[in-house]
Amino acid sequence: MDHRVIRGGLAVRSRRHMLLPVLHEIQDRAGWVSRGALEYACRRLSIPPAEAYGVVSFYARFALEPGRARTEHVCDDIVCQLAGAHPDQGVNCLGLCDRAPARLDEKQAPAAESVRYPDSRLLRRVGIVDPGSIDSYREHGGFKALRRARELGAEQVIRQVTASALLGRGGAAFPTGRKWESVAKAQARPHYLVCNADESEPGTFKDRVVMEGDPFALVEAMAVAALAAGCEKGYIYIRDEYPVARRRIARAIEQSRDAGLLDIDVEVRRGAGAYICGEETALFNSIEGKRGEPRNKPPFPVEVGLFGRPTLVNNVETLVNVLDILNGEFADTRLFCVSGHVKHPGVYDIPLGTPLRLLLERAGAGSIQAVLLGGAAGSFLTPEQLDVPLSFEGTRAIGATLGSGAVIVFDATADMKQALLRIARFFRDESCGQCVPCRVGTKRQEEILERMFANGRGQADVMLLSDIAQAMRDASICGLGQTAANAIASGLKQLPVLNA
Ligand code: SF4
Repeated sequence: MDHRVIRGGLAVRSRRHMLLPVLHEIQDRAGWVSRGALEYACRRLSIPPAEAYGVVSFYARFALEPGRARTEHVCDDIVCQLAGAHPDQGVNCLGLCDRAPARLDEKQAPAAESVRYPDSRLLRRVGIVDPGSIDSYREHGGFKALRRARELGAEQVIRQVTASALLGRGGAAFPTGRKWESVAKAQARPHYLVCNADESEPGTFKDRVVMEGDPFALVEAMAVAALAAGCEKGYIYIRDEYPVARRRIARAIEQSRDAGLLDIDVEVRRGAGAYICGEETALFNSIEGKRGEPRNKPPFPVEVGLFGRPTLVNNVETLVNVLDILNGEFADTRLFCVSGHVKHPGVYDIPLGTPLRLLLERAGAGSIQAVLLGGAAGSFLTPEQLDVPLSFEGTRAIGATLGSGAVIVFDATADMKQALLRIARFFRDESCGQCVPCRVGTKRQEEILERMFANGRGQADVMLLSDIAQAMRDASICGLGQTAANAIASGLKQLPVLNA
């Protein structure tokens, strides 16, 4: 009665998660995000402008000045530098390492190459099936696993996934069945399903190949996961630099829904150029319309995830494996992305435990100076370590990790100092800045390396670098800070050329 009551505030504020899609829309139409457009979006979504500014300025994709937005990108990350890209003149890895040196024009993004993967289990349909046709997918065995899952019911599906001993392929190698079971048993509602397709680790491009070449497989796998874990709503968060994958997945969702094969609503969310959003809790924040900053864990996503609800989050490769489990065709293989100095860069599906040397032979590697295993957060291996079995235990035994499955090969001509500096720059760029050890440590790490490579390796700098690495490992909130020194430390320890 006194006009001091405003109704509907909660409903308006609950649209906060639309902030990133709205910003993308503004930028796609106007070429940048002007102050006026941002303020209008803030009014409509009931977001304080200062907070929205914090979000828009967080993501590399959004431009706050005219003429700053880029729709063409040239990569100068590790693999592209090996192929001749000039250092310091481009962007971080575009996930096109099999086509290095890579350039991406978003408006004319290349279609998936019609490469066939003859002896690959997971990629057997890529290059064969029509990625735009549900009928073609069905002709190649599509939706058999979903039918089977519906017959079995949630409990049995989880039992089969658990029995397969499938470990998550995103890097953390957590048992998939256990994760599904935890979400299924969580009391709070609704349950969310999130597919992490924000593949941004340098040297990694397998999820792109799956999404571009076999998009219905991912949609089917999400339908199975949602059924098993009782999820009411799903999201696929795809990195901004994968426009073809995004379009094809959206189309596959539409066709599957029209065919009555998707019981839940699945939404494609577009990343905005932040590597850290590959970290699951940063990804949740990004979907919620916030800065992509990781959260402290615990609580873990299976209890308190997206919008504070139990959330099942899996990466693309993990999900697609579930189809073969239900179809009785599962084998413990893993996708590896081989790039750098090899004759046949690409994605290889090989049994876990295969010696690295065999994979390199298949990819056509010649003389080798070093191999970076696991991407920028991984470690350098020497030619003497190439017999390491590519398994979680095998790599752990030599202090390495499979990580995202990236294998970057350096021959004798490679400038290893440049490679280490590029890794340091990558982490400096991508640290979200939320915690001091990582924000400051990644910057100092780069400065010390530059000094060491310019002036020689002084004992004081070596000690300083190792102290910073320890501080980042011990006191960073998330995996980015905790692993930002790994590749650099292993390179300095293992590669003689860096000790000269
Ligand atoms: Fe952000 Fe780095 Fe801290 Fe992770 S470790 S939360 S990336 S500042």
